[in-house]
Amino acid sequence: MLELRIEGLSKTYSNGVKALQDVSLTIPTGMFGLLGPNGAGKSTLMRTIATLQEADSGSIALGDIDVLREKDKVRRLLGYLPQEFGVYPRITAEAMLNHFAVLKGIVNAKERRDTVNALLQRTNLSDARKQNLSTFSGGMRQRFGIAQALLGNPKLIIVDEPTAGLDPEERVRFHNLLAEIGENVVVILSTHIVEDVSDLCSQMAIIAGGRVLMSGDPQAAVRELNGKVWRRVIGKHELEDFQRRYTVISTRLVGGRTVIHTVSDAQPDPTFEPINASLEDVYFHYSKRDSQAQAEAA
Ligand code: ADP
Repeated sequence: MLELRIEGLSKTYSNGVKALQDVSLTIPTGMFGLLGPNGAGKSTLMRTIATLQEADSGSIALGDIDVLREKDKVRRLLGYLPQEFGVYPRITAEAMLNHFAVLKGIVNAKERRDTVNALLQRTNLSDARKQNLSTFSGGMRQRFGIAQALLGNPKLIIVDEPTAGLDPEERVRFHNLLAEIGENVVVILSTHIVEDVSDLCSQMAIIAGGRVLMSGDPQAAVRELNGKVWRRVIGKHELEDFQRRYTVISTRLVGGRTVIHTVSDAQPDPTFEPINASLEDVYFHYSKRDSQAQAEAA
């Protein structure tokens, strides 16, 4: 089974931003979620794996291919849906996909027609094949982006923030599409949306500030936190006090009331109720722990 191994990858931009700091990850076949806030370094990592930009140090191997050096080999195996797909010209979906297929080297006309038809069908765009891309909705654009990324049967598929801006129905549709491709290829899904990972991914990593905060099986991470997450409804003005006294990992308004989640091995006091941990709690827990560690180091 194909595996992507990233070791000690670092990148500092010329403005001094450390976008990647000694990132090491092993990404197996299947759907891998790269979860992190905006600015975490996800796109930098995706673009580096996609051979579109250079790292300062470290290595990436896809099977026995040296990704940072054997770029052409990687490109032949790669399907990439960038964050900004960008170009939506007044050309039909079918014509554009046909054009991309030519670029991918599918020169035989019949083979190309069959491939384009199959991909339009798979991404549920057959009915929209004669429609100009410029008239596509956000969800249709993303599905078209997947269609072009799947050209040439890639073994490594990278999708960068694909569900940002999709309405709930389109997100579900897009999830179903991704779930179908993730079987025999390496799929890396970068996202800041926890549900993308909990719905789809068998393996994940959380990154922030260019660093890997955790990696592994999302379900296992949730199980590990189970029994340690406590919930309490507080008054609006009590938040600061609670933040001082407890490890508050998240705060949210639920029906106009402020609900906090804290993490601790034992019940902080009888006013806190135990709740089942979620992947969102995992995400906030690791983020909180990291920002505390960073603050202490500063
Ligand atoms: P994400 O995809 O997680 O939002 P990015 O990889 O886009 O994160 O960005 C990581 C950090 O690097 C951010 O602080 C961003 O502002 C910075 N950054 C990204 N691209 C460049 C660039 N070309 N030049 C300078 N800084 C950049």
